Amino acid sequence: MPIDLELLHTKLEDLRIKYDHLQYLDTDPICFPKKYKDPLDIEVVSFISCLYAYGNVKSIQGFLKPIFEALGPSPYQTLRGGNKTLLPFLKNLNVYRFQTKKDNQIFFQTISRILQNLQTQSPLFESNLLDEFGKFNEKNSLPKFQNFWEEEIKKTSGKKTLSYGLQFLIGKSTAKSPKKRLSLFLRWMVRTSYPDFGLYQRIYPNQIPFPLDVHIQKLIQILGITDRKTFGSKEAFLIQEFFKKINPNDPLLYDFYLTRVGIIERCNAKYQKVVCEVCFLKEVCLVFGSATGN
Ligand code: SF4
Repeated sequence: MPIDLELLHTKLEDLRIKYDHLQYLDTDPICFPKKYKDPLDIEVVSFISCLYAYGNVKSIQGFLKPIFEALGPSPYQTLRGGNKTLLPFLKNLNVYRFQTKKDNQIFFQTISRILQNLQTQSPLFESNLLDEFGKFNEKNSLPKFQNFWEEEIKKTSGKKTLSYGLQFLIGKSTAKSPKKRLSLFLRWMVRTSYPDFGLYQRIYPNQIPFPLDVHIQKLIQILGITDRKTFGSKEAFLIQEFFKKINPNDPLLYDFYLTRVGIIERCNAKYQKVVCEVCFLKEVCLVFGSATGN
């Protein structure tokens, strides 16, 4: 059955209005960069937060909170300060899931070195995402960005290859994966409206691949947007194209709000009476429709 775009748009707007409040930021890693005012801090904290944004919200926050506390009022300045300011911080770093303590130390040493070599002006990393004509390129920009970090991390570690943990953190430039954590970072940096920061001016909101995290992957299936079972970079752009039918200039507008259905409402893509009966998306949800005959 074709999707009723008008009805879907109405329900997405209802969802947006419901979750358009600061209190819901605590359920998302964007709560970390939201604490800062200086664009340099926002960009650095966003990048770190997005890379470690895998696993459940509690474990992400449990790992990142002490890191940003230890980096003080300006993580950018602390990291840029070099080894003197950094040594106690590096010593106290913990492991996080696939990253060993050593991986995390290498990663933060790399960021520190890069920040020391960059001009002190915002934005810091946007130019690494642009091609020779100064444009964002759907196919090459994210792999190029990953390559840049891979090479810099290798310089820090002195090794020819990345450890499993560091490779996972940056992602493989050649992999056809949806690159969801970097897409999320782009969303935060490029979109200008809530809850994002709009620091990057040379990349446009309608160019960013949709960040296909597990919640979005489930939702786009049960909303009938796709019947694909595997999700790669191709699908990230296909889903972006779909949402352009609703918002041509800002297809990622509903990303934050849709993920709240999984994170806060605990949608598991199966009919659960208590959850589904009060869900704002029930009228456009295939699972709800087939369970209730509506
Ligand atoms: S109706 Fe239920 S299954 Fe459908 S989106 Fe809402 S919570 Fe998820």
